[in-house]
Amino acid sequence: MDAGRRQFLGRCGVVLTGVAAPFASRPDVAQASTGTGTGTHHERFMWSAIEQARSNPKWPFGAVIVRSRTGEILGRGVNTGSDSPLLHGEVVAMNDYVRRNGNQGWADTTLYTTGEPCSMCMSAMAWADLRRVVWASSIDDIRRTDISQIDLTARQVAASARSFYTPELLLGGVLAHHTNHLFREAQRLREEDPSAEVA
Ligand SMILES: [Zn+2]
Repeated sequence: MDAGRRQFLGRCGVVLTGVAAPFASRPDVAQASTGTGTGTHHERFMWSAIEQARSNPKWPFGAVIVRSRTGEILGRGVNTGSDSPLLHGEVVAMNDYVRRNGNQGWADTTLYTTGEPCSMCMSAMAWADLRRVVWASSIDDIRRTDISQIDLTARQVAASARSFYTPELLLGGVLAHHTNHLFREAQRLREEDPSAEVA
């Protein structure tokens, strides 16, 4: 990393400390730094989501749900769309959370996901009142790797649920340069082996 970029990321880190810290109380809709994993709070958990994603190399959508206060991982998931069109990584992680913790306590959690939540998943989070969501690659990033995307951003879906849903943190771009690479690699794998084309 060159000095200029490091300086830029450093400034981002300062800015984000105020608005994206674990206990932030107001919504943050900023783009995150795309730092190289030097250990920020959000990057640490995004690496866990990436670890999940690696178990489905052709469709690397992974997610973890953590207790915002302690960082304890409460649910994990990876896209298993070949089993059901509903089973995006975020939904699998939410189902895992419910199995382990019951359908409660969502407001104290943060979900980390390798790809910006689609409208189905973001709606599920709104219904659950899961208020803190951090993603890496954007919907546009993912679409560029030949994966169909419904053209609604996570923030648009959240805003459409404003009558009952007040997110505290909607943060995109965390480790996106890593996940963008993962999605490009996934595209190459799918092109090499077109079998199992279902997400
Ligand atoms: Zn989804």
